[in-house]
Amino acid sequence: MAGTGLFEEIKEEDVFKYYADGEWKKSSSGKSVNILNPATRQIQYKVQACTQEEVNKIFESAKAAQKLWAKVPLWKRAEALHKAAALLKEHKAPIAEALVKEVAKPAKDAVSEVVRSGDLISYTAEEGVRILSEGKFLVSDSFPGNERNKLCLSSKIPLGVVLAIPPFNYPVNLAVSKIAPALIAGNSVVLKPPTQGAVAGLHMIHCFHLAGFPKGLLSCVTGKGSEIGDFLTMHPGVNCISFTGGDTGIAISKKAGMVPLQMELGGKDACIVLEDADLDLAAANIVKGGFSYSGQRCTAVKVVLAMESIADELVRKVNAKIAKLTVGSPEDDCDITAVVSESSANFIEGLVKDAKEKGATFCQEYRREGNLIWPLLIDHVRPDIRLAWEEPFGPVLPVIRISTVEEGIHHCNANNFALQGCVFTRDINKAILISDAMETGTVQINSAPARGPDHFPFQGLRDSGIGSQGITNSINMMTKVKSTVINLPSPSYTMG
Ligand code: NAP
Repeated sequence: MAGTGLFEEIKEEDVFKYYADGEWKKSSSGKSVNILNPATRQIQYKVQACTQEEVNKIFESAKAAQKLWAKVPLWKRAEALHKAAALLKEHKAPIAEALVKEVAKPAKDAVSEVVRSGDLISYTAEEGVRILSEGKFLVSDSFPGNERNKLCLSSKIPLGVVLAIPPFNYPVNLAVSKIAPALIAGNSVVLKPPTQGAVAGLHMIHCFHLAGFPKGLLSCVTGKGSEIGDFLTMHPGVNCISFTGGDTGIAISKKAGMVPLQMELGGKDACIVLEDADLDLAAANIVKGGFSYSGQRCTAVKVVLAMESIADELVRKVNAKIAKLTVGSPEDDCDITAVVSESSANFIEGLVKDAKEKGATFCQEYRREGNLIWPLLIDHVRPDIRLAWEEPFGPVLPVIRISTVEEGIHHCNANNFALQGCVFTRDINKAILISDAMETGTVQINSAPARGPDHFPFQGLRDSGIGSQGITNSINMMTKVKSTVINLPSPSYTMG
């Protein structure tokens, strides 16, 4: 049960505590925030609504702790991270249970998220040891007009306090993908977990607590983003913001001051299927890519662009697979589970109604019970239909029929979102030319879009993000370069 046993201290009565100065605390606000179970729509958990004064204290402690942490030898920082990774994996059950209850993640996927997170932390520790131990040595006479009298030593140093804000869909994995690179690089971290997903996040933080990180180095502030978000992101104590989520990120990037930003935002990942594609492979990837975790993934296939000549057969194959998807409760590990909230379900329904009114072809009957929406493929979607462009973040997938490859590439590049895309073809030359032409952060050839493996570079262009993630890039992003220049006497100087 979430919040029991080893995790007893993170909760009092029925409200989970927040984490500051190495301790679990109740907020002086006396207020809590409800977390609804997406499947039952009943209150599942409660977390503290932290105050601005509490946030101020957290930033003060984070600043002080960071100064000391930056002096801890790199191998010791790595050792602490390995310990946290092992604890996370050891305690995967209560964390996964929280993921099932507060974000309706299918049971097996919930466990996978925690295990993957442990692996990510360990890999980050190892990668950090490798890349942070390297620096650069430059000699001045390679630049025109200079003599050989200046020696430059550069190395990477931490940024300071990193504010980490992950979204509801991977509240553990996308938290550790910020926390681990920040800590190995010598930063401190203030985590603001998503409200749906906060309890899984608090359990994850407790694993870091048990691993024995110094007080104040890692903190976790809970509360609604709409209430404390601006105070956090505009706080003068923040030296870097690493954010994953939707349009909120665009607003944050306009408000944040002179701090480095890492933004992982929405996607409308297109899947282009050519005439010569292996249609069984394409159909399997479209269904896995489009409907895993009910389509609530940034890298979900969000629009299929199929060449007219193979579209009928492709749609038939996709529909046959959709018919086999199980729909129901996350505890039963169903493929399709309730979407995260009633407002999300209503938004998805709005997109479905728009497609209906504008005459698209429904391959299945639209069915919804509460927040549970049955998987739906909508064919013959035209550019005037909202689903052609918008991210439903649910189990609804549009198919646009195209008569030329250029039409598909044009549709992909005309969207403000530019996270990933994929192309199915047996012709590798065509695949590479299409990949070059698709203006997205990544293009997958003959597979659905995916973030992992977590050490691959991962980035969104345009409204899909700022910067590049993936373990190595995140470590680098959370550092700055510091140089020391040794100035020798001029070459005319003679010794002795
Ligand atoms: P969201 O509504 O933007 O929320 C993301 C986070 O921002 C949550 O922790 C939220 O807290 C917080 N927040 C809300 N208002 C804030 C404010 N004013 N200031 C600071 N933080 C604030 O996104 P979501 O619904 O959780 O996630 C779905 C979106 O994330 C989709 O668009 C998806 O494509 C995107 N996503 C992108 C990636 C990627 O790597 N590119 C990965 C996963 C998801 P509360 O929960 O308390 O509101």
